[in-house]
Amino acid sequence: MSHSRVEAQTSLLSVHKIVKRFGAFAACDGIDLQIAPGEIHALLGENGAGKSTLVKMLFGVLTPTEGAIFWKGQAVDIASPAEARKLGIGMVFQHFSLFEALTVAENIALSLDRSVSIGDIAEKARSLSAAYGLPLDPFAHVADLSVGERQRIEIVRALLQNPQLIILDEPTSVLTPQEADRLFETLDKLKAEGRSVLYISHRLEEVQRICDRATVLRHGKVTGSCAPRQETPASLARMMVGAEVAVVKPDYTGPRGPELLRVDTLSVRPRSPFAMALKEVSLSVRAGEILGIAGVAGNGQSELFDILSGEYPVNRHDAIMLCGKAVGTSGINPRRLIGGGFVPEERHGHGAVVGLSLSDNLLLSRHRSDRGHYTSGALGFIHRHAVQEATARICESMDVRKSGHDPDAGSLSGGNLQKFIMGRELERKPAVLVVNQPTWGVDAGAASTIRQAMIDLARQGSAIVMISQDLDEIFEVATSIAAISEGRLSPAYAADTMTRERIGLLMGGLHGLEGDHAH
Ligand code: ADP
Ligand code: MG
Repeated sequence: MSHSRVEAQTSLLSVHKIVKRFGAFAACDGIDLQIAPGEIHALLGENGAGKSTLVKMLFGVLTPTEGAIFWKGQAVDIASPAEARKLGIGMVFQHFSLFEALTVAENIALSLDRSVSIGDIAEKARSLSAAYGLPLDPFAHVADLSVGERQRIEIVRALLQNPQLIILDEPTSVLTPQEADRLFETLDKLKAEGRSVLYISHRLEEVQRICDRATVLRHGKVTGSCAPRQETPASLARMMVGAEVAVVKPDYTGPRGPELLRVDTLSVRPRSPFAMALKEVSLSVRAGEILGIAGVAGNGQSELFDILSGEYPVNRHDAIMLCGKAVGTSGINPRRLIGGGFVPEERHGHGAVVGLSLSDNLLLSRHRSDRGHYTSGALGFIHRHAVQEATARICESMDVRKSGHDPDAGSLSGGNLQKFIMGRELERKPAVLVVNQPTWGVDAGAASTIRQAMIDLARQGSAIVMISQDLDEIFEVATSIAAISEGRLSPAYAADTMTRERIGLLMGGLHGLEGDHAH
């Protein structure tokens, strides 16, 4: 009997060389995982490591391309969530699937395979929520509930099926610290009853606090398996982000000119239950500098971008200084007029209007900020020819692959649209460029074009803030590096003093371990 066979028989769940491909891309690339009865097992890994893809296969949401799953020693084929539940697997997803207009009990009823009276469900939900320390009113409307309460519905919903394994996908990423503490108590209760928990997280501290074992993923492969309490945050971070590249010299390290962008201890309340609050964010970027902001998605990156761009003006005017002028309460167009350039993460509908041609998109972003160049007179007469020329120039310099001369933005592939939007901003040579995920969805060749263009822009004296989840990109481009975690921005460190391990620690929220290199 092979080693994995033995493990499969002593484990509650055992995954053997599982592969999930999307096209040619392997999101999970031969993963082995064993979960013992009664353990809290962490699945740890940076964004895009393949964690959600793996657990979706365990819950019957995705079908594995290759590999085998064993449940209590038996090979199983989990074709649907209903089958997963039947086996005894429950799952709390990263994104909730609740109907706001319905009550808690009604939402739970909808997820049950058989029909049960609302009264019975309410009764059961009440007793479960009492037993597991998950306070919940079955008759409350979901619309009135906090994110933490919504998550409790999902947990109670999973518990109703009396599962032996409960999977939670980044449950604390939407919780306050207090709500997280409460969740940890619940997980301890589940464990004490002999149930197993598969706990997905990128937060080192909480994994060390509550998990018995951890399997670490990186680029779809297992990079380590350990008892997290016996590791240090540094060793966990190393498994998570890889230690093969210790220190990468950025291509360009100076010179520094005057400060072009400054944010002064700015706190911003969350705009929706799913938004992140920004907490006392300060930053300063000089001419010639590229500040790379690392972090796992959902830690306040888009909120930070929105306050820097003016998409979401703040209430203190001098909290944000752009090219020496206070702009905090200004919107995006006044900021563009004094030298700002902004490329958001969400391309469709945010960076570009998909129903319009590329040249109309160019005009749309410019007619307010570059008045006189493409439009003139009180009626805003459009210099169509100049716009077409600029569009052609951008497409050529960024190698935008398109069908036809001036197609609709929506007809471009995501990567090519990104190249166009980056090219559009870069061509204006903004004094300050703020960009969120500059090469997201872009192929390797185009990514290096975009990165080189940012380096060239800084060399010519612009200041750049580059928010990116891609550590390789940050090391390649940034002259200074900070990390954002739960809405807090760490101090910036000179790029040549940074290692992946240190960034990993900052990304996990462990600020101030080494505070000596701040500048
Ligand atoms: P994690 O949960 O660890 O952040 P995911 O499992 O969500 O990572 O994603 C792993 C990789 O697989 C990512 O690069 C992601 O873009 C890709 N991916 C996930 N789902 C799909 C899909 N349906 N189609 C194509 N690529 C996908
Ligand atoms: Mg995920």
